[in-house]
Amino acid sequence: MAAEDDPWIRRACAEAVASVADGGGPFGAVLVQIDDETGRVLRHWIGRNRVTLTHDPTEHAEIHAIRAATRDLGVVHLSGIAREVARRPQTGATSHCVLYSSTEPCPMCYGALAWARIPVLVFAATRYDAEEGGLGFLDRALHDAVALPYRNRPDVVVRRAETPEATAAFAAWRDAEGVAY
Ligand SMILES: [Zn+2]
Repeated sequence: MAAEDDPWIRRACAEAVASVADGGGPFGAVLVQIDDETGRVLRHWIGRNRVTLTHDPTEHAEIHAIRAATRDLGVVHLSGIAREVARRPQTGATSHCVLYSSTEPCPMCYGALAWARIPVLVFAATRYDAEEGGLGFLDRALHDAVALPYRNRPDVVVRRAETPEATAAFAAWRDAEGVAY
């Protein structure tokens, strides 16, 4: 099935329109959990951009949907979700999530989906659409900025502080035999 024929991407775009009607930003997302053995959709979570409604610059639609899913399932990774670990029922031994976003995710949301180990992303509008016609969303500029070395970021002053304590927490983590996530 071509990505544009997938009904879930149309749902994400519908959530974006509904978000505007609710006073939120023009972005929507749907996170769909799929059983790895049967390929069946188990459940889904929706997200809408609520930045201005909540005075929270991180309340992007994708973040909203990811938080809803990981809290509901009681996991931090949304691939290889094991039946014994997930709080909600699933038929097969493992499942994974697919993220549908009405617009290509910004770098923060790309980071969130990487941390959540979401293996598949489908988006509709581009970072260029989000700034066209006076819309002025920062997506394209942020994508360009994060590709630069930190000293060359155009919109923020970044300084490295080489303190002796810099890696103390990592040493403590190693001593505690912590496992990276
Ligand atoms: Zn975002």
